[in-house]
Amino acid sequence: MSDSSLLKALKTHFGFDAFRPMQEEIIEHMMTDGHALVIMPTGGGKSVCYQLPAILKDGLSVVVSPLISLMNDQVRALRANGIAAAAMHSGTDAREAKETVQQIKDGTLKLLYVSPEKALSSGFISFLQPFRISLIAIDEAHCVSIWGNDFRPEYAMLRELISHFPDSAVIALTATADVATQKDICDQLQLKNPKTYLSSFERPNITLTVQAGIQRLDHMKVFIRRQEGRPGIVYCLARKTTESIAKSLRKVGYKAEAYHAEMDNVFRKKVQEDFQFDRIEIVCATIAFGMGIDKPNIGWIIHYNLPKNIESYYQEVGRAGRDGQPAEALMFYSFRDVSVYREFIEKSSGPPEFKRVQSEKLDRIWEYSQAMNCRTNVILNYFGEYRSAPCGHCDHCLQPQEGFDGTRLAQMALSACKRCGESLGMGLLVDVLRGSGRKEIYDRGLQLVKTYGVGKDVSWKNWMNYITQMINQGLLDIDYVNHSVLKCTPLSDEVLYHQKAVILHRPAEPLEEPAKKKVPRREIFNKELIRRLDALCRACAKEEEIPAYAVFSKGTIKEMARVRPITVEDFSQVEGVGKYKADKYGQAFVDVIRAYFADQDVLKNPRGMTYVETLDLFHQGLSLEEMAKKRALAEATIASHLSKLYEKGEQIDLKQFLLPDDLAIAKQGWRASGFSDQVKKVKEQTGDSISYTRLHLALAVLRRDAAKES
Ligand code: ADP
Ligand code: ZN
Repeated sequence: MSDSSLLKALKTHFGFDAFRPMQEEIIEHMMTDGHALVIMPTGGGKSVCYQLPAILKDGLSVVVSPLISLMNDQVRALRANGIAAAAMHSGTDAREAKETVQQIKDGTLKLLYVSPEKALSSGFISFLQPFRISLIAIDEAHCVSIWGNDFRPEYAMLRELISHFPDSAVIALTATADVATQKDICDQLQLKNPKTYLSSFERPNITLTVQAGIQRLDHMKVFIRRQEGRPGIVYCLARKTTESIAKSLRKVGYKAEAYHAEMDNVFRKKVQEDFQFDRIEIVCATIAFGMGIDKPNIGWIIHYNLPKNIESYYQEVGRAGRDGQPAEALMFYSFRDVSVYREFIEKSSGPPEFKRVQSEKLDRIWEYSQAMNCRTNVILNYFGEYRSAPCGHCDHCLQPQEGFDGTRLAQMALSACKRCGESLGMGLLVDVLRGSGRKEIYDRGLQLVKTYGVGKDVSWKNWMNYITQMINQGLLDIDYVNHSVLKCTPLSDEVLYHQKAVILHRPAEPLEEPAKKKVPRREIFNKELIRRLDALCRACAKEEEIPAYAVFSKGTIKEMARVRPITVEDFSQVEGVGKYKADKYGQAFVDVIRAYFADQDVLKNPRGMTYVETLDLFHQGLSLEEMAKKRALAEATIASHLSKLYEKGEQIDLKQFLLPDDLAIAKQGWRASGFSDQVKKVKEQTGDSISYTRLHLALAVLRRDAAKES
């Protein structure tokens, strides 16, 4: 098959205009019935590597995957593209299974997803034997290796399946495998002359930021607000934290839920499903969450606590931005987290060797959190991909930090530590430096220490940060066994008595609210169109009971809004729209775009723009007061905009701004004014029983109701 016909098939079946790195070579190799091992990061686009050959080749392809929800997602996505796919696992019912068997017998099924248990169950292989099996894919292949992250002994038995179909193409795929694991996968599965495809672990669309865990909740709220409603995950170490954070986020208006291992199974499943279907925006989870979810539109990940190693961290981060849209990862670290892990490791029942490895892995993630240069490189180097060029999408690359001479500050801290008998934890040491009047200070007589209050000009949170830096530079040490008090080190004396210079870095400012720059008009117009397309997408998804992104991804919707096709033909050319979806949804989406152009009244007249700006703020969920403030207009003016939009048929709920009696009062006044068009005339009738603003809105409701009746 020629290159251009593969590309054409990619567009027809999946709607993509170009291959991602490696995909094309892998697919070509699969078309020749070869064997392959593919190592690609999460979101790299592994599925297409076997799905496209499966579609193009004669016969049936079998995909073995250990994660049921992931299988179901994939089948759903394939079917949404008009491709005959089915799954068989412990969760499929008898009727479905029967249908699937029939499809196999009819030769219509292209992809069959099975769990390893199913693949190895008695009779399965002999059932498949008479049919042409064009390809076998083993997903999450690291499970076959004892060196991998989640070894499953039965997984290695899959070589049975492979050996029964010697003419099939075979592809083993994984996102995590070091060199030893890679080799072991090929051996265990007895792959024949496998070609190994190792793609870069870099995820260029994810911005990596790391911060000291000080005032975490405040930082988080700003960060989440900046995400403009994209769904995300907050990973925490403890069950209790997941619950308290979810609660705090709900309080400020987010649809957030906790998720942890101790939760009731049914409820846990519900949280996962609600997240999948965008009914929940944020999940605050212990690490138990996310293994089996394939949600391409996750926009951000927060690690509220330090993750336990770089593998887990990067796997969790990798769940963001699978749709290729820009995504953000924010990680907090603290010494407390490290002590908690150390205790875990100490108390764990594993052999000493295991403990040593865990502890070293912990050191590495700690070093990552403290890195003063490109973070992506730290990660890539960890996975054996050596690089030193800056990545351009981590905090250090985006905002390089200059150090300053912090010798005097360091001397203050060290001297205070010494004078207090090296008996203070970090917080109390800062209180001494800042001359706090806290009870504990007086109880312990610390106000008498000579350095008491010498550092009062530096804020509490900056001190915490500087001391953290000093610990990392080996100037102070934490005595984990003894209530985590700070101790001096040999280096402390160098600084105190021999003028050793200390370089410190200013702590990251609290994440800034996005600058209130004036949004260009075209962008606001565009936002409105995106909102309408998004609404249609959700409506289609609801009807078919699939998640909205299975209809069209956010990226595809943005692309539609950019291209603005007004014929189905043009629509089918949009990146992300395949032939099947163009036929199925094209007309409806084109209609929305046409209607948007046709909204002359609201959008096109010279004053229309001001309405659109107000509408935009309304959709952001602002109150009347906030809208007025943002636009520097009177509330009554805002109300008049909303009234006009409402009367033009815009789907907005005005009643939320009204008090219970407002409609009745307005109705009476309106009648008394002889159904006047002028709010002023009606106001003369109602007097002060209703404000101008609310009268505007109430009249709009009454007028539209009246228009409907007549
Ligand atoms: P992985 O299994 O490697 O984690 P997926 O196969 O789920 O990744 O692909 C990740 C995302 O990238 C999916 O949303 C998929 O639709 C999209 N994708 C895959 N290949 C392409 C491509 N060639 N062009 C655009 N998007 C792609
Ligand atoms: Zn970088």
